[in-house]
Amino acid sequence: MPRLIFLGAPGAGKGTQAQTLAGHWDIPHISTGDILRGAMKERSPLGIKAQSYVDRGELVPDQLLLDIMEERLSQPDAQSGWILDGFPRNVNQASFLEQLLQKLTQDSARAINLDVPDEVLVSRLLGRGRADDTEEVIRRRLEVYREQTLPLIDFYRDRQQLMSINGNQPLEKVTADLQELLAS
Ligand code: AMP
Repeated sequence: MPRLIFLGAPGAGKGTQAQTLAGHWDIPHISTGDILRGAMKERSPLGIKAQSYVDRGELVPDQLLLDIMEERLSQPDAQSGWILDGFPRNVNQASFLEQLLQKLTQDSARAINLDVPDEVLVSRLLGRGRADDTEEVIRRRLEVYREQTLPLIDFYRDRQQLMSINGNQPLEKVTADLQELLAS
């Protein structure tokens, strides 16, 4: 079963595709955004610490997520495959993940970039209606993506782990392209 790291800007369709494919392969879909939204809803210590960052479209401090990811990827259901959606989001998180996967002897992870033009991203995000989908926060999330997450394309390309998919297509076509790419 695959180990996939979904890259792509906010609104690229990572969540939707990750959920579909994880269901198809019966492997965990691990979304740090979902974990944080759950924690904020419960008002847990993690949620309370994360809230102001998420509300502003900033990344939460790495330390809030590294232990959680280590815990999650150590679970029995994560041993034979997973899809990560929203993690890593910067080079520090990617280096941490690389070392963690070595430690857990989970090899052959691949990063998939879902490529979608900027103007499509903004209209998709505005249509989604999530609490952090106001125009100002969206703009900041896209900036943060460009500054901190985009360098991961090179990070994974340098390691020959990168694959890219055209995410600006009907979602069934994106799923089909992903399945085809991963089967080859
Ligand atoms: P998402 O659902 O992936 O768009 O994430 C929503 C928000 O959660 C982001 O805008 C960040 O504030 C926060 N977040 C999610 N994943 C991470 C991460 N790996 N590192 C830091 N912040 C994150």
